[in-house]
Amino acid sequence: METQKFYTLPPLPYGYGDLAPVISEEQLRIHHDKHHNAYVVGANTILEKLEAARKGGADLDMKATLKELSFHVGGHHLHSLFWKNMAPAGKGGGGAPTGALADACMAEFGSFERFKKEFSAAATSAEGSGWAALSVCKTTGRPLVMQIEKHNVNVYPGCPILMVLDVWEHAYYLDYKNDRPKFVENFWQIVNWQEVARRFEKAQPR
Ligand code: MN
Repeated sequence: METQKFYTLPPLPYGYGDLAPVISEEQLRIHHDKHHNAYVVGANTILEKLEAARKGGADLDMKATLKELSFHVGGHHLHSLFWKNMAPAGKGGGGAPTGALADACMAEFGSFERFKKEFSAAATSAEGSGWAALSVCKTTGRPLVMQIEKHNVNVYPGCPILMVLDVWEHAYYLDYKNDRPKFVENFWQIVNWQEVARRFEKAQPR
């Protein structure tokens, strides 16, 4: 696996205009280039600060520093995943899961519709800035819905995240104003189920 010392902004796996009309080019461009990039820069800045303090033997406010680091690293990883778990509608985006992921959703939620309902409710009811996420527990193999606050609160340890939906206002405000439920409803048209299924298979208990 390729390693790197600092974080970098990954390019989108599609063009900036390719998720329209669910996410407009202007909305996607500012979200990726400005907001996601701010978390990349934020995480790297804190890592540099830690490095400088170690070298110089300075004391840092560890509580504040680690809280900030968790926020920025979380923001970077969640956005990186978010771009990958979407694809242009009808060109890899939309539809329903197939294979083992579909079976697991059926066993856990009873139906795909019920899963959508729970995930959408997690997204629409996130207080302020947050995310809805589908994860899977590495111990039980059971899918779990998460409602992440900010980028880093309410995350379950030991449960890899398979799919996320960003419901920070910066993710949808240009296109939907305050109508977050409409954004959440439209999101289903651009879910890249193949990528979600790939991550699900990789996360199975072994
Ligand atoms: Mn975002």
